[in-house]
Amino acid sequence: MYTGRSKCLKCGMEFSEETLFEGCPGCRTDRFVSIVSPVYELPETDGRKETFFHMFPGNNLETYRRILPLKGKKKLVDLGVGNTAVTKLDRLGNQLEIELYMKDETRNPTWGHKDRLNAVLINKALERKAPGVIYASTGNNGASGAAFAAKAGLPCVILTVKGVNRTLETFMQVYGACVIGAGSGPDRWKILKKMVDEYGWFPATNYTVPITGSNPWGIEGYKIIAYELYRQMEKLPDKIVVPICYGDALFGIMKGFSELREMGFIDRIPQMVSVEDYGPVARAYNSCREIIEPVEGWKETSVASSMSTLWGTYHSLYALERSRGLAAALSGNEELKEAQRELACREGVYCESASAAAYAGLKKLVREGKIKKGERIVLLITASGVKDTAVTASYMPEIPEVGENAEKAAELINTYVKQSF
Ligand SMILES: [Zn+2]
Repeated sequence: MYTGRSKCLKCGMEFSEETLFEGCPGCRTDRFVSIVSPVYELPETDGRKETFFHMFPGNNLETYRRILPLKGKKKLVDLGVGNTAVTKLDRLGNQLEIELYMKDETRNPTWGHKDRLNAVLINKALERKAPGVIYASTGNNGASGAAFAAKAGLPCVILTVKGVNRTLETFMQVYGACVIGAGSGPDRWKILKKMVDEYGWFPATNYTVPITGSNPWGIEGYKIIAYELYRQMEKLPDKIVVPICYGDALFGIMKGFSELREMGFIDRIPQMVSVEDYGPVARAYNSCREIIEPVEGWKETSVASSMSTLWGTYHSLYALERSRGLAAALSGNEELKEAQRELACREGVYCESASAAAYAGLKKLVREGKIKKGERIVLLITASGVKDTAVTASYMPEIPEVGENAEKAAELINTYVKQSF
């Protein structure tokens, strides 16, 4: 059960306030900050899977209440988050000579893994009687938050950068959120901080430099992915590959496995593997540094807008260190596009570019020999490609027009079959 306390990942200081959105005040410096993370009292078990099913009957948000940072017994607001499919990706797995699976987070209520965070966040905001929830978001997180806030009847404000992704702007607006265009990251964060400090709004996203990360009570929702993987898979995976921005899901999944180990259900934590486009976390982790300096980025702008950041968070590093994981950075948009297309054409999975990054990173690590033949790997497919169609359309060929000419059509079909199969 949730103790009502939280603990700094770095210095171990404990707190009872549930308002430390700016990270641990004990070890914060101009260049470093760590989130505080909710603490639980977990039972020791006999470690049998039957015991797990007995402890967590059903498979919805309510099922996992005892490992969520929520107080009281009020029925939780939910849109049917979680219980997403685990599917084996045989064709791509055989090609890489590994046992490959995906955890398909596109099946969540707003077609992405941010629903994991928002399902918990909205219930925490209701518990705290916050006047509303507030986001700095250009897409998935804001849209997901807007949907859950609508279900909860709670005001939702989203500070966005206009024009980044029209589809996601529409998503955010249609759920009835107050969507406001604001300046760059730090400009939006100033507004967000004011709304939190002066008006008591419940923040979902980061508003500090150095970057603290998303709301630590909301992040706990990602732990359920680990619990579901334990529930769904016969054998524990060797590695979980996660595309990261601030690494909230990477950390949450690691924490979930860590709790399962503490309760005796598993004896090891799968290695967490982070994939970034620009790679601030990979650079720090691979050179054994705890301070994550911002990086310069690529010559081109990454098409994976929902994961792109020049900054990183300490909890990403923490998840990698605790699981002795791997960190990969990509080198350009071509890798992302190729991975997106390969997942769609060879496995029937159309995910957004940021999700495809997980597969692009996996291929790279296999090439480099860091992932060995026969390993059991889970890719976290974070969001659906329908949120990102403008990017995909930009590299699709024009559709040929044949009118009534059946011969011309037959010629095109022949070429297609020869080239693709
Ligand atoms: Zn600290």
